[in-house]
Amino acid sequence: MGNMIIVQESTQTFISELQVNQVFGQISFFSGRPRTVTVKSRGFSELMYLDQMMFLKSIYTKHSHAVKVYEDLRYKLIENPKNFTPLYLKCYHCQLKGHIAIDCDFYQHIKGNLTNQNDMRFTQDENHKQEI
Ligand SMILES: [Zn+2]
Repeated sequence: MGNMIIVQESTQTFISELQVNQVFGQISFFSGRPRTVTVKSRGFSELMYLDQMMFLKSIYTKHSHAVKVYEDLRYKLIENPKNFTPLYLKCYHCQLKGHIAIDCDFYQHIKGNLTNQNDMRFTQDENHKQEI
């Protein structure tokens, strides 16, 4: 299995590496906001994808309670866009709940950490690596 890494391309910042069975994209899934980071694979990775529209169509017809949970989460994220407590997310840096890595106090210490290292070149090379 390949490693999945989270980077913020606009600032050339490596944020974290995902482990097996971890999920990503919850904020966008529930809030509808654009993603602020990119997930890249180093090597072959197998992913499962949950399409938001397909999910909503499936719960609207038969699962009214799930619709209420989804809409409550969405409302909380829109009402307070820097508070991620409703999603039980932990910051990748400090592991505290309620905020995400790019909003963390530690983020300023790592921001741009790929600009002076070879990690970015490595991740780009891995994307184009061919089997020998
Ligand atoms: Zn933090």
